[in-house]
Amino acid sequence: MQKVLQNLLDLQSVDLRLNDVRARLARFPKKLAESDARVAAAKADVDASKAAQLATVKDRKKYELDVESWRDKVRKYRDQTSQIKTNEAYRALQHEVQMAEDEIAKAEDRLLEQMVASEEYDRRIKASEAALKEVEGVQRVERSKVEAERAVAEKELAEWSAERSRAVTEIPENLVDHYDRIVRKHNGVALAEVRNEKCGACGMIVRPHVIQEMRRSESAELFHCETCTRIIYYIEPSLSSAPAAASASQTSASAAPSHES
Ligand SMILES: [Zn+2]
Repeated sequence: MQKVLQNLLDLQSVDLRLNDVRARLARFPKKLAESDARVAAAKADVDASKAAQLATVKDRKKYELDVESWRDKVRKYRDQTSQIKTNEAYRALQHEVQMAEDEIAKAEDRLLEQMVASEEYDRRIKASEAALKEVEGVQRVERSKVEAERAVAEKELAEWSAERSRAVTEIPENLVDHYDRIVRKHNGVALAEVRNEKCGACGMIVRPHVIQEMRRSESAELFHCETCTRIIYYIEPSLSSAPAAASASQTSASAAPSHES
């Protein structure tokens, strides 16, 4: 294989590792946001329980005042009894007293309901606070795991970026530009092996005379797939079995940063 093609293949294998690391890094913000959202939801539960509790306290105060004011009225009516001259007026006053006492009973019922509700809200507050504590604990662990994974990925990104800088020094600058253009067009893969007379990437036929030229070529000429425009290369069948596997592993070993080997 031409030296330049081998160098391009090395660059491609570095780029594929870089793509993988970048894809991993891109997922971390979402993971952290999900973790934040779980804690926020648990906090919202606590807030909602507390708000409901506060509302019952306010209602309770209102019903307590209702009871007080109706009791005042009853006292006032009873004070008036001594000044009553007629049976009719007395019955009317008794009726007022009865109505006020009914209102007291109703307000006391509501007060009782609010006290029962208040106990329920107390339980909810305690339960939601316990749940929040648990979620915070789980998410603390989750976050530190994500942060550790991110640190590893960032280290790998730095290493593979350095590896790329080294790999491009082996290739003429205009060819790197050409390669980069194809990479951008094809989502990271600029080179394709010709197998069974087809482009290994897009699957379209590579014309036999092109394969003939590729096999013959001793020059530095590069060939392209006429359909997808990727740079194509050909490995002789005798080389693509056992020896090719060996050369492929050498390739990946030479392309790997030292920490990988
Ligand atoms: Zn193709």
